[in-house]
Amino acid sequence: MIETDELKNKGVILIVEDNIPFGELVAGTLRDEGYQCHAVSSGNAALGWLSSHPVCLLLLDYNLADMTGEAFISSMRTLGASVPFVVVTGRDDSNLAVQMIKLGASDFIVKDTALLDRLPIVVSRTLQETETIHRLKQAENALRQSELRLSRAQRIAGIGSWEWNIQNNGIYFSPELFAILGYGQEPTPQLSLEWFYNQINPVDLPFVRKTLRTIIESGRSMNINFRVGTRTGEEIVVESHYELEHGNDGQPELLVGTILNITQRFKAEQEIYQLVNYDALTGLPNRNLLYDRLQQSIVQANRIHGNVGLLLLDLDRFKAVNESLGHNAGDQLLRTVADRLRVCVRESDTLSRVGGDEFVVLLSVVSDEDGISSAASKILAIISEPFLIDNQEIYLTASIGVAVYPTDGIDAQTLLKHADLAMYQAKDMDRNNFQFFSSELNVRLMERIMLENSLRRALDREEFQLLYQPQIDVNTTRIVGFEALLRWHHPDLGMISPDRFIPLAEETGLILSIGEWVIREACRQSRAWQDSGLKPVRVAVNLSGRQFKMKLDQVVAAILMETGVSAKLLELELTESILMRNVSENLELLYALTAMGCSLSLDDFGTGYSSLAYLKHFPLGRLKIDRSFVRDIITNPDDMAIAKIIIDMAKTLKLEVTAEGVENLEQLDTLKALGCYEMQGFLFSKPVSPQVAEDLLRNGIRF
Ligand code: C2E
Ligand code: MG
Ligand code: MG
Repeated sequence: MIETDELKNKGVILIVEDNIPFGELVAGTLRDEGYQCHAVSSGNAALGWLSSHPVCLLLLDYNLADMTGEAFISSMRTLGASVPFVVVTGRDDSNLAVQMIKLGASDFIVKDTALLDRLPIVVSRTLQETETIHRLKQAENALRQSELRLSRAQRIAGIGSWEWNIQNNGIYFSPELFAILGYGQEPTPQLSLEWFYNQINPVDLPFVRKTLRTIIESGRSMNINFRVGTRTGEEIVVESHYELEHGNDGQPELLVGTILNITQRFKAEQEIYQLVNYDALTGLPNRNLLYDRLQQSIVQANRIHGNVGLLLLDLDRFKAVNESLGHNAGDQLLRTVADRLRVCVRESDTLSRVGGDEFVVLLSVVSDEDGISSAASKILAIISEPFLIDNQEIYLTASIGVAVYPTDGIDAQTLLKHADLAMYQAKDMDRNNFQFFSSELNVRLMERIMLENSLRRALDREEFQLLYQPQIDVNTTRIVGFEALLRWHHPDLGMISPDRFIPLAEETGLILSIGEWVIREACRQSRAWQDSGLKPVRVAVNLSGRQFKMKLDQVVAAILMETGVSAKLLELELTESILMRNVSENLELLYALTAMGCSLSLDDFGTGYSSLAYLKHFPLGRLKIDRSFVRDIITNPDDMAIAKIIIDMAKTLKLEVTAEGVENLEQLDTLKALGCYEMQGFLFSKPVSPQVAEDLLRNGIRF
């Protein structure tokens, strides 16, 4: 309801009346009611006032002296003023009344004795009606504006809308919806709900129907995606939002929905999903999806107090196969492996490829270890069948690590890690086998991981040191050389023996930088001894297999240059296994090193499989008898026999020979009797610091 007081402030009521006293009378009456009024006596005077003042209502005498009512109204319209007006006339003429209403009069009032009584009511009602019409127009305008905006927004966003009148089954589609369905200029089809349903992919249709029913029953708004066919036969994916509107009777009346073509987005999302969750080469789930599935399986197993088995399979020596075959064949091989594994797993299991040659089988419903073991055996058997790639028969084996939920871990990450550790265990064993995870294994491996982390920082933190163990000529009792032996002072664990960290350094590749440091440090020390006036002494450093992969000759040459140490003073200790690997490449490098002047010695001799004939190929200068033969040389005739053979063989090959691990005089005497005169061992000295080594050099050694 519009308040009358509000209307009274909206402007002046203009009274156009050539009978001036009557005009004043009318004005007076209205002023008494609270209206502001102004009375004029001619049409022209009224037009003049109108052009410069806000007027909310005109009371117009039909018979003016200067113009008729019709003429006044048309002049007013020409002025652009559209003020509501009530016609006041002396004649009671219904024809005139109709004519004036047609011209736009809000009301018609006859000048009689009751006029002054009725006037306030007529004015108030007219003002209210005018205001209502005005507000309605504003609302209509606003609606039209927002409809325009909505349809513009729909057009720009590609959103179509549709309505279904549930009560009379009427359907409305917005033009944009037709556009989405592929209609351009051509006539649109006869609309019906059935027609709409017919456009929907039959697989999705039941779901769409069900959703619409749910919305009508529950009154909830919902969002769904489904596929629809367009006029041209193409299938698109749409996202659809629905809301229910109720009629005045509270019954569901209108189902309104928007439809957005999300085909591009859907495809992009699917591609992303594919990329994120599947391995491109084999099409198998990748680590990401495996992780999700594993988590789901854990939740399920937890509910039924069941187990989950995780088999991590790594192909043995795949890298070598890949390198020798070429990558295309390698890829083909991996795809074939994937195909074979697919055959082994059940519908409920997940087979995934998690790394280059690593696959994981997730057994979601497992009863016991036996079940897992038989699955693992089956997999190993199927992998060991020959593969035919490029008309070539290829034989592969695999190692499998197994972790079981909940025994070996209660979360996905731990289970995967433990399966991984068990797989390494399987590889360490014999390859081509499977291993269950065990907690001892875990402790060992945790230690290893910690150690590996601190090893990475050990060089920077200067935690390494070289100790020197003298090598003695037992005939002269003089020190003829030192073997440099590496020590690691771990900040928390104290001294760690090389037997523990060298293998780790080799696996991680850290041996390259550590090994270089050892050579440089040994040469630097050798130089320092010379600089302090001591006689130049030979220093032997131990080498690892990995160091042969880099340009070791160049590294050594650079260090010798840098420290100014003669190559003659540097001996490099190799093991038999180093020599055996990549013989041809190594040979070149060994010759380069000896050509430079360095000497080579074969460490731990007798423990490997080198044959005499074989040794001839290498430019060796010395054999070191492994301390395992020296240890029992007195009590074990076999060891003595071996020591004798080694010494004789060295002589034949014109090699020097050094006995390692000599701890007592009996050992010394026996070795001497066999013809070995150079020795190293606790009998003479343990490995010592450079200072102590210097003292030994100056003062000689007693034993
Ligand atoms: P290795 O080259 O055979 O070194 C001799 C090892 O025997 C040394 O152990 C030494 O302390 C020990 N030894 C010497 N005399 C006796 C003795 O009379 N009785 C007994 N029981 N042992 C004796 P260490 O220093 O613990 O080194 C162990 C192994 O670690 C070395 O064996 C070598 O293979 C490796 N290693 C040491 N330093 C380095 C290095 O700088 N680089 C590389 N790659 N390996 C190293
Ligand atoms: Mg050695
Ligand atoms: Mg040795």
